[in-house]
Amino acid sequence: MRFVVKVDTEKCKGCALCVEVCPKDVLQMGHAVNSMGWLYAETPGSDKCTGCKMCAIICPDAVIRITKEGD
Ligand code: SF4
Ligand code: SF4
Repeated sequence: MRFVVKVDTEKCKGCALCVEVCPKDVLQMGHAVNSMGWLYAETPGSDKCTGCKMCAIICPDAVIRITKEGD
């Protein structure tokens, strides 16, 4: 089963907690900034996501959503 990892980049504050907690290195901090001027998390390794949702749980701003592909 594959999962889709979606970060609401406009609401991300760039704390990088999700990057640190992900056991599969799905998330990384990018180099672009959002309209608030914050770096935001990107999902270059999304094909490795196991759907554990640890990133979504730890995100202080609750801006990560994990869904099953096709849902
Ligand atoms: S759900 Fe788990 S494996 Fe997928 S991006 Fe979040 S922490 Fe990583
Ligand atoms: S934990 Fe949330 S606020 Fe922090 S970098 Fe990740 S997506 Fe952004």
